[in-house]
Amino acid sequence: MKSLLILAIVVLAVWLWRSGRRDVSGSNRSAPPSAPPDPQEMVRCAHCGVHLPRSDAVAGRLGLYCSAEHRQSAEA
Ligand SMILES: [Zn+2]
Repeated sequence: MKSLLILAIVVLAVWLWRSGRRDVSGSNRSAPPSAPPDPQEMVRCAHCGVHLPRSDAVAGRLGLYCSAEHRQSAEA
């Protein structure tokens, strides 16, 4: 009967260890999917050359700019 108790403890310990490892690997696996959306396409201002996210860029006739001022300066 004592060996049955020890077996139960061992099984419980292994189960806890495995579930704990699954949690760790699960959190590690959930990190990369959140990373890919982050890297935004970087574009270069056609006037001053600064790099900025494409979503922040101002589109002009000759290219993309970091601001409306640089678009005006470059295309005026
Ligand atoms: Zn600029």
